[in-house]
Amino acid sequence: MDWQEFRDWSHKAAEWGADYRAGLRERPVRAKTAPGDIAAAIAASPPERAEPMAEIFADFEKTIVPGMTHWQHPRFFAYFAANAAPVSVVAEYLVSAMAAQCMLWQTSPAATELETRMIDWLRQALGLPDGFSGVIQDSASSATLAAVLTMRERALAWAGNRKGLAGQKAPRVYCSDQVHTSIDRAIWVAGIGEENLVKLPGKGKLRGMDPAELEAVVIRDRAAGLLPAGVVASVGGTSVGGTDDVAAVAEIAGRQGLYLHVDAAWAGAAMICPEFRHYWAGAEQADSIVFNPHKWLGAQFDCSVHLVRNPDSLVRTLAIKPEYLKTHGRDGIINYSEWTVPLGRRFRALKLWFLLRAHGLEGLRQMIRNHVAWSGKLAERLRAHADFEIVSEPVLSLFSFRHKPPPGVDADEHNLALVGAINEDGRIYLTQTRVDGRVAIRFQAGQFETEERDVALAYEVITEIAAG
Ligand SMILES: *Cc1c(COP(=O)(O)O)cnc(C)c1O
Repeated sequence: MDWQEFRDWSHKAAEWGADYRAGLRERPVRAKTAPGDIAAAIAASPPERAEPMAEIFADFEKTIVPGMTHWQHPRFFAYFAANAAPVSVVAEYLVSAMAAQCMLWQTSPAATELETRMIDWLRQALGLPDGFSGVIQDSASSATLAAVLTMRERALAWAGNRKGLAGQKAPRVYCSDQVHTSIDRAIWVAGIGEENLVKLPGKGKLRGMDPAELEAVVIRDRAAGLLPAGVVASVGGTSVGGTDDVAAVAEIAGRQGLYLHVDAAWAGAAMICPEFRHYWAGAEQADSIVFNPHKWLGAQFDCSVHLVRNPDSLVRTLAIKPEYLKTHGRDGIINYSEWTVPLGRRFRALKLWFLLRAHGLEGLRQMIRNHVAWSGKLAERLRAHADFEIVSEPVLSLFSFRHKPPPGVDADEHNLALVGAINEDGRIYLTQTRVDGRVAIRFQAGQFETEERDVALAYEVITEIAAG
């Protein structure tokens, strides 16, 4: 591809992207393809000879696009949103064109310094105290892995990386049963072992762990010769928004000398609104917090912000050089690859800068407030309908519900069939979960382009399809 062709096809890609995004309401949200359909339409072997770009692009439109699930669709109410505000897409075009590796300050000073600033902008936006710093990771899973490795190393007096885990006391990590599976995987990968991840039952309306039970278990474990290392608190869990009392957990973590990591991957974005900060009261006492601007805030994937109260133990865990001999940050130079597991790093701060400037915090707060209000309204309409029940109360813009089965039909099977039929219909997209072992249908509003009419249409679609 020569530079003129690069220019032409970049224009064409931008035109295509704008048409695609503007026309999303006309498409079904979820791909209507059967497993194997797309693979069958793609050549089994790579071409020996160059093919014309026009043909490649035509095949993209013909074969790939119909097989996509449209995450930027305004009626995407499944999982959690993975927003890509148009302005963040523009920033990603630029990042993609520059294609820099941002692992060290000197490999792209602007990327490092903008990252430091954006982390601090977000710290202020979230209402966290001065002193928190952080790094942009690819995903919450990576941030949580880094946090779990830090817990492990701190508890083992930094011997794990050097000696391995054989012969060491078993580090123990505590959380509720509402945490995301990324916690389990971090525990596996960190060599701690699933049996040393202690999951306490989520209780009460918010399904948080019982702080007194947490402390009792920690004391019991220590007496048994185990090594309590850290706690992962959940704020806005993925299933139904399970949320721990972070202040109470932080108090115990402090008293017991445990590292506290807060997983607010989804809900963290809402903390730009002061009225929602009660959900994570106490987070300022955590050792680290993860939140994904690529979920609700609008920064194109991938963009996961990993905030730390003090980077020393994180960097001591992950820097390949003996970091305790260095002065990371204080001499004005940060090498962010020493804060993460991967060495290579994309320039992720640019899309945050574009996003925060183009919308302003007030614009983003309004979007989040709208989603919470519209979702709450939908929950009330379903609650008022004789054939529906609310299974989990709204946490921000997430709730779950169930439809009454006809006589003699199993409620789980009925609701699984209902969510399947709704998604087949294509106008909206929902996913299911299990609450206390029983199927419930999740609803969350969080897509950047969602309007009130989209949530209103969700009510029509749900009730119409449930009525058969
Ligand atoms: C989405 C989510 C995660 C995982 O996020 P990734 O960035 O995909 O790794 C972790 N925890 C919670 C609560 C989430 O909602």
